[in-house]
Amino acid sequence: MEYIDCGTLVDGTGKQPISDARILVEDGRIVEVGPAEAVAAPDDAERIDHAGETVIPGLIDAHLHLKGSRSMEPFDWIRESTELATARATADVRTLLEAGFTAVRDVGSEAGLPIRRAVDDGTIPGPRVFTSGSSFSQTAGHGDRHYLPYEWATSDEGGGSQIVDGADECRKGARERIREGADLVKIMTTGGVLSEKDAPSQSQFTDAEIRAFTEEAHRVGIPVASHAQGAPGIKAALENGVDTIEHGFYIDQECLDLFEETGAVFVPTLSIMHRLVERGEEFGVPEYGLRKAREASEAHFEATRRAYEAGVAIALGTDFLGPEPVAHGENALEAELFVEEIGMSEHEAIVAGTATAAETVPADDVGTLTAGNYADLVAFADSPLSDISTLHEPAAVYKGGERV
Ligand SMILES: [Zn+2]
Repeated sequence: MEYIDCGTLVDGTGKQPISDARILVEDGRIVEVGPAEAVAAPDDAERIDHAGETVIPGLIDAHLHLKGSRSMEPFDWIRESTELATARATADVRTLLEAGFTAVRDVGSEAGLPIRRAVDDGTIPGPRVFTSGSSFSQTAGHGDRHYLPYEWATSDEGGGSQIVDGADECRKGARERIREGADLVKIMTTGGVLSEKDAPSQSQFTDAEIRAFTEEAHRVGIPVASHAQGAPGIKAALENGVDTIEHGFYIDQECLDLFEETGAVFVPTLSIMHRLVERGEEFGVPEYGLRKAREASEAHFEATRRAYEAGVAIALGTDFLGPEPVAHGENALEAELFVEEIGMSEHEAIVAGTATAAETVPADDVGTLTAGNYADLVAFADSPLSDISTLHEPAAVYKGGERV
């Protein structure tokens, strides 16, 4: 047993931070938490001293890809082997953990499932991994590889999305992922930025196709995440049972009403948009990607502001995937953008990166520092409550009570 003395404790629930707090930990989980004078320290327990620091729950990136890529050219992603991608992604999860991310939601990669297993069995250091495995796209959709001959794009080789058309194929695809042990199902209900021949505003998958995914996932108690940028594709997703909306460039009032009705979580991923616009050209993003990012960027930030003002649950997610300028390790950028561009308070941005991000995964013991949860936490010498950029410099990271 051990106890952690904290200068200031932010428990992730949004409640008022506690000064001079104490967290009692046993077997990697929190037993008790509160003001130090109210939490008795057992005689034989080890004291861990963060009394001069601010302690928050371990951060969660609710939208990233353990793709292990090191290039912004989508053609390179399929040219390179899955083994190489997995080796690099193994290094990426270590970097994420050191950066204070004690859980991640991987919404589309081949390496996600094997990496989750290697982390869980203690072979490699990394955050708790929640993964969709490979995502699903329709033919000519965001996950299709438009630049390849059709026969190559639909073969199982070379990563990318699984291409499915028609409700039966969608249903079978979802069952394949469930069979592999995926934590969620990831689909694409609109076009996107880094796909050559579609557009963010275009809807993809029919209502019946979307429903096939959500019925199968919900039957086994796992959520469905949808890449959804244009308003019609966002509405189709929400009306057909999707649990989280990713990106949401063109959220309108009807979308906001549907968020309220369904309780879905919004994961805007401002970070990749910011980096594509600021530094994409320098790092070899194809011209079509640069053009589409520039066209959508303003609407994307505006949609996120509108959703925030309407009280939609917003989670921290970056869409980072490995290469510069979207390398893993700088994922706290999203919290900075929430404060600087969206108008969240520092405390709200921390909640977005902890408790709200945890709502996107099928687990109820991460995201807040409350009794029964894993002792996943991060300490900061300079408080992120007064300067959100300090999230980039954790003084100490603990996963399951063990210092990283
Ligand atoms: Zn993504």
